[in-house]
Amino acid sequence: DAMVPASASEKCQLHAVVVPYPAQGHINPCMQLAKQLASRGFTITFVNTDHNHARILASHSQHSSIWKDEGLDIRFASIPDELPDHHDRMADLASLSQAVDDQMPAHFEALVAELCSSDDSRPTCIVSDLFMNFTQDVANKFGVPRVAVWCQSAASFAIHVHMPLISFQGYLPVTDDSKLDPIIDIPGHPPLRPKDLPSFFHNADVSNYMYNFKLRPFQRLQEAKCVLINTFDDLERDVLKALNDGKCNVLAAGPFLPPASLSKMDSKDNRTGTGIWPEDQECITWLENQKESSVLFISFGSIARLSDIQFKELVLGLEASQKLLLWAIRPSLKELIHSLLPKSFLEGEHVYLTSWVPQTLILSHRSVGGFLTHGGWNSTLESLSFGVPTIVWPCFSDQMLNRKWIVEEWKTGKGFQATNAGFITREDIERLV
Ligand code: UDP
Repeated sequence: DAMVPASASEKCQLHAVVVPYPAQGHINPCMQLAKQLASRGFTITFVNTDHNHARILASHSQHSSIWKDEGLDIRFASIPDELPDHHDRMADLASLSQAVDDQMPAHFEALVAELCSSDDSRPTCIVSDLFMNFTQDVANKFGVPRVAVWCQSAASFAIHVHMPLISFQGYLPVTDDSKLDPIIDIPGHPPLRPKDLPSFFHNADVSNYMYNFKLRPFQRLQEAKCVLINTFDDLERDVLKALNDGKCNVLAAGPFLPPASLSKMDSKDNRTGTGIWPEDQECITWLENQKESSVLFISFGSIARLSDIQFKELVLGLEASQKLLLWAIRPSLKELIHSLLPKSFLEGEHVYLTSWVPQTLILSHRSVGGFLTHGGWNSTLESLSFGVPTIVWPCFSDQMLNRKWIVEEWKTGKGFQATNAGFITREDIERLV
């Protein structure tokens, strides 16, 4: 209802302008949401940055035909982030977020002004990532309702809501001293330890760009019609209820996944067409030749990375496990990784090393029996949906919180026991794998 203005006549063409934060873990769920809206009759204008749009086009040769095949009216627009093209945005989220705040608003306003200039293209709503704060200003200016999208868990949302109080109560900075490991009480949330808080908050450093970037949208939640969370009631019922009791006006609208989740998918179901790297389809052929549930799939997603020394230890633990491995290492790390891997591992028959894969297709494959993941929220939902148990190795952001839920609450995965120095040993890796 929030997306259909009260003034809309029966014949009014519903048109949502969908704007993700410009990172893979936001683009994918926003596109799944956009597809669901389009399948209910919405026209969609999906807005990426120029940089990501060019990369998506370069990675998907049949990009535009995907939508036409499915009869969905999804159009693409792009606006600049004004960062240099070669800038590694995933390695420097603070500068990307600063570009979102400083450079993108004027370009987005111009785009919406152009769409509003004709009755045929006038948006009936803006559906945008909560972190794209400026879209609320543009929505207000043009009198278009905005629905915000939260691409992490409801638990993570609740922590963001309560973060000013958590900070005021003196829980920050987070220390490694287990004697100082108090329990934080958040309505509807199981007991929470400071180390499970999203990493951007660990230092209580209000001069840190990401600290403020993450919290600022929560000061104006009420301006949006509602917040759609990429979760579902049975997964996070108590947190969702507490949020709504606290007048946050959130709706569990997920999971924003390909519609064929829960059953084996074919490659057509998987065609989101939003990967910013080309996908290796050959790995499916390799999987076809393996026994049922025999393969461990490994991916740390689009941003996280281990230290070199920890990476080498992981390789030793994996080698010792002697399991079949399908390991996706994103292209930007390929050279570094290859220089760190022993020749025996690279040439070993039990390893299929690749760059970017169609992850949902992999997780739905019968040969995959487990998933070693950094615990990004999309990977978490995808593994839950396909019933693949996980080993969670959180690196940053909300991943430590997701680990807590996976290991302690849902018990659908296991986590490592780090040493006092925060190191994970090859023995622990071999044991869990
Ligand atoms: N993904 C993919 N191919 C890969 C690795 C990841 O398609 O080789 C997708 C994955 O299915 C998920 C997204 O990229 O939808 C990663 O999001 P997540 O929240 O798990 O982690 P992030 O990259 O944001 O840290």
